[in-house]
Amino acid sequence: MNRQLLLNPGPVTLSSRVRKALLNPDLCHREPEFSVLQDNIRNKLLDIYNLPRDEWATVLLTGSGTSAVEAMITSLVPDNGRLLVIENGIYGERMTNIAAIHRISHQHLHQDWGSEIDLEALERELTKKSITHLAVVHHETTTGRLNQISGIGELCGKHGVELLLDGVSSFGAEDLSFLEWNIMACAATANKCLHGVPGTSFVIVRRKALNDQTVTARSLYLDLNRYLHQQDKGGTPFTQSVQCFYALDEALDELNDNGGRKQRQQDYLSRMQIVRNGFVALGIQPLLASSDCSCVLHAYNLPVGCSYQQLHDALKAKGYVIYAGQGDLSRTIFRISAMGDINEDDMTRLVKKMGEIVG
Ligand SMILES: *Cc1c(COP(=O)(O)O)cnc(C)c1O
Repeated sequence: MNRQLLLNPGPVTLSSRVRKALLNPDLCHREPEFSVLQDNIRNKLLDIYNLPRDEWATVLLTGSGTSAVEAMITSLVPDNGRLLVIENGIYGERMTNIAAIHRISHQHLHQDWGSEIDLEALERELTKKSITHLAVVHHETTTGRLNQISGIGELCGKHGVELLLDGVSSFGAEDLSFLEWNIMACAATANKCLHGVPGTSFVIVRRKALNDQTVTARSLYLDLNRYLHQQDKGGTPFTQSVQCFYALDEALDELNDNGGRKQRQQDYLSRMQIVRNGFVALGIQPLLASSDCSCVLHAYNLPVGCSYQQLHDALKAKGYVIYAGQGDLSRTIFRISAMGDINEDDMTRLVKKMGEIVG
């Protein structure tokens, strides 16, 4: 079979098991079978990180990862709150955009893309201003950097600031210490580390956060309060992506059957290691040190004399879809993700194909 393997950071190469789930019978979102499906997914998502159901809730949304991030920010920063956004890549900057569009009182701590978050600068921001909430990206997919949230969470705890995490490209694979890191909410999606299809995203949120805050709804469609209220009763305010729910439910079972979240992290690490060692041997330089990278994605400098388009097209012809850099990085890097139904042999073959191109 001539499989086209997706090495972009979502959507991912689907397993046949997940793909088949899309063919489940038609289902109305007002029927009891839908409530069961929705409840199952909500609980399975909490179980990945052992979050107790009385303290935490999953709010399921229909939309890509950005909709979950937008719902999180707009539903949780109160009217009289102030949001600090940490930026060290596109996705941090996107959260600042969200705050600006919704006229949420905010400021940002801007850093170079790919740089390590400066905790001293962060603490200065947290001490001098009346910040109530902080938003940060866990895995900054722009560069592959895994931001270290523990120190940030500690500062948030110390200054009484609530932490909102964009975990869109880490949830389901990376370690996430919800309690130790003082996380109030985490936005994520079905179609990255969870290996579902695009169309469903979600926010994992402390129930207390939604109960306590006084937020005047800033959006009709992305109001977490509205969803939580109805989903707790088995309902949904609006039509959900039913087929995507089927696929996500199956993908969550598959995650468990394959050894769970920790095993997925190990699998990604092994795949990334094969690619990294292979590419380095071919003279292709990684953008960041291995210790700074997520298990999910690594970025590499383009081989000398090779444009992204040339490399992309050559690899695509050999069955691999790689991913470009964003912004200024589009001219200098390419990215390889480990997500989806791919294996170590696929990665070994990728290195071989790369050798045929640059060798
Ligand atoms: C993919 C991604 C998003 C959301 O992207 P969508 O295209 O809306 O799914 C948000 N944040 C991060 C860190 C991501 O990697």
